[in-house]
Amino acid sequence: MVKPAAPEEPLAVEVVGVNKTFNPGHSSEVQALKDLDMSITRGEFVSIIGPSGCGKSTLLRLLAGLLPPTTGTVSINGKPALAARKNLEYGIVFQSPGLLGWRTVAKNVELPLEIIGWSKSRRRERSAEMLELVELSSFAKYFPQQLSGGMQQRVSIARALSFEPSLLLMDEPFGALDEITRESMQNALLRIWREFAVTIVFVTHSIPEAVFLSTSVSVLSARPARILKNLPTELGGHSPSIRSEEKFFHRVSEVREVLRS
Ligand code: ADP
Ligand code: MG
Repeated sequence: MVKPAAPEEPLAVEVVGVNKTFNPGHSSEVQALKDLDMSITRGEFVSIIGPSGCGKSTLLRLLAGLLPPTTGTVSINGKPALAARKNLEYGIVFQSPGLLGWRTVAKNVELPLEIIGWSKSRRRERSAEMLELVELSSFAKYFPQQLSGGMQQRVSIARALSFEPSLLLMDEPFGALDEITRESMQNALLRIWREFAVTIVFVTHSIPEAVFLSTSVSVLSARPARILKNLPTELGGHSPSIRSEEKFFHRVSEVREVLRS
C-alpha cells in the first residue's frame, strides 16, 4: 500500500515574482529587483553574489521583512517575512558589528534576550553558551573596543544566534576584515553552521568566499537584479584545503563567467 505523503516542510526562504522599486513615479525612481524567484530549503548555505549596487542588500532586507516588496511575495518558513520577523525566526549580521560600546561582550549578546523579556539567569546561561560557540568565553567581561574587528564580528554572530533562530541572514559580514582574519572567520562560520543546523543566506561580493562557504551560489545581474544562475558549489566537506584544489579554481571561474555574462 502506498503511504500518504508526509506534510512537506515549508521552505526556509521562498521569493516569488518579486520586484522592488524605490521612489516610484519620482525622478529618483530606482528599480532594484526585477522578477526575482528564489527557493532555499532548510539547512542550506546559500551565497548571493552580484556587482556592487545591484540590489543584494535590498534583497536581504526584503527577506528580513525590513522592507516590503513592490510586487510579489517573500515567505520565511512558510510565513510572510514580516510575521517571521516578529516571531524571531531569523538573526541578522551586517558588515559593521554594531555592538554597544558601553555594554560588555556578554551584555551585547544578551541584548535581544533582554528585549524579549528573558530572566537575568536565563540570559546569562545563553550568552555563556553563545560565547563558547564563537570561542570568546574568556572575553565575556571585556568591552567591544578591547576586541579586534574579527572578534567583534564573532560577538555580533553570537548575538544574532542568541534566540536560536532557524535562519541567519548575513550582509557582507566579513567585508571589513583582512584576508587572514576573513579565512579564520569563514572556518568558524562553517563550524557554527554545522553545530547549529541553521540555514544561512550570505551576501558577498567575493567569488572565492561564496564558492568556499556555500552549498549553492545565486549569481545576480547588474541592477535591476535578477538571478542569472544558481550554481551548486558543494565541493566536498568545505575543508580549508579545498581552496588550493583544481575543482575550487574551476568553480570560481565558472561563477566569474556568469557574472561577466
Ligand atoms: P548592493 O547591496 O548590491 O550593493 P543595494 O541593495 O544596497 O545594492 O542597492 C541597490 C540599488 O537600490 C542602489 O542603486 C541603491 O542606490 C538603491 N537603494 C537602496 N536602498 C534605497 C532606498 N532606501 N531608497 C532609494 N534607493 C535605494
Ligand atoms: Mg550591500
